[in-house]
Amino acid sequence: MARRSTEILTQTPQGLYCPLGDFHIDPVRPVDRALITHGHSDHARSGHRSVLATRETVLIMAIRYGEDFAGSTQAAPLREDIRIGEVTVRFTPAGHVLGSAQIAIEAGGTRIVVSGDYKRASDPTCLPYEVVPCDVFITEATFGLPVFRHPDTRDEVKKLLDSVALFPERAHIVGAYALGKAQRVMALLREEGYDRPIYLHGAMERLTEFYKSEGVPLGDTPKVGATERGSLGGAIIVCPPSSLQDLWSRRFPDPVSCFASGWMRVRARARQKGVELPLVISDHSDWDDLCGTILETGAGEVWVTHGQEDALVHWCETRGLQARPLHMLGYGDEGEAEEPFTPWVAMEQSAP
Ligand SMILES: [Zn+2]
Ligand SMILES: [Zn+2]
Repeated sequence: MARRSTEILTQTPQGLYCPLGDFHIDPVRPVDRALITHGHSDHARSGHRSVLATRETVLIMAIRYGEDFAGSTQAAPLREDIRIGEVTVRFTPAGHVLGSAQIAIEAGGTRIVVSGDYKRASDPTCLPYEVVPCDVFITEATFGLPVFRHPDTRDEVKKLLDSVALFPERAHIVGAYALGKAQRVMALLREEGYDRPIYLHGAMERLTEFYKSEGVPLGDTPKVGATERGSLGGAIIVCPPSSLQDLWSRRFPDPVSCFASGWMRVRARARQKGVELPLVISDHSDWDDLCGTILETGAGEVWVTHGQEDALVHWCETRGLQARPLHMLGYGDEGEAEEPFTPWVAMEQSAP
C-alpha cells in the first residue's frame, strides 16, 4: 500500500519524526532514537539514548561531546538498507563535511530523502554528493536566493596566496568553522601547492587530526604556541571565526583578517565583521545547485528547511512541484547562518 509522505515523516518540536520507525532525524532535543546526518552542532546534539550515523559522524560527535555523548551508538554503512520498524533507511554521501550523509526513508513504495546539509561543489575532504531519486526531497536553503552563486573555490584560495605573496611580513589569519571548512581551506591550499606549515588555533586541533587520521592530506599543521605569535609574519593561521575579533589574533604581526564563508558574498557582512580579505567558500549549495539537485532527484514534492525557504518554495511551484517550507527552529550551521539574515542586504550585492 502506498504511504502518504506525512505518514512516514512528521514535524515535532524535537525535529523530524518517523512514526513507523519511531526515530527522529537530527533532533534538537534529546530523544530515544536519533538518526544524524552530520556532525555540525545544530544537527548532532548530545544526550540521545541511541544514535545511528555514519562511522565518521559518530567519531566526530565523540570528539566534540566526549565518548558518552549518547547511551549507545551504531555506525550506519553507506548505501546499505537498514530496517527500522516498518521502514527502510539508507545513508548516502551528502558532500557537506567528512561523514555527512543524506538519509532516505522508504515505506510502502514511497521514498523521502532528508538531505541534511549538502553541496555539489568538489571538496577534497569528503565524499561527493550522490543523487538519490525520491518522491519527497527535503532540502536545506541556507543560500536559497538567486543572488547566491558561489565562485570557484580555487580562485578564492588564490586570492589568499596572492595576498601572502604581496604582504610577506603580515600574518594571514583565516576564520573558518572548526568542522569541515577549516580542513577544506587547508586541503585547497595544499592543492594549490602551498607546502609551508599551516598554523592552527588550539580549537581546530582535534578535528584536524581526525581528518588526517581518515586519510585527508593536510600536510604540516602545527598548533600556534602561546609565545610564538609575534614571529609568524608571512604565515597562514586558521582559527574559529570568533577568534578573528579576539585579542588572540591581534598578537600576530600586522594581521590580515580573512574569513572563509559563503556569507562573504555579502560585502556588507564582511565589512561589519571587520574582514579585510573575504573568501567566498561555502559548504552549502548555492542557488543553482539547490534548483539543479531538486530536479535531479525527480521528487514531485519538496520540503524546504533552514534558510531562505520562501524563494525556493516559489521556484518549485513555478516548476509544477508541490513545495512547502518547514519552519524548524534550532538549525543554522555553526554560524553559517548564525545571524538573522535579511534578503535586502544580499539584494544590495546584486545591483550593478
Ligand atoms: Zn544545517
Ligand atoms: Zn552542516
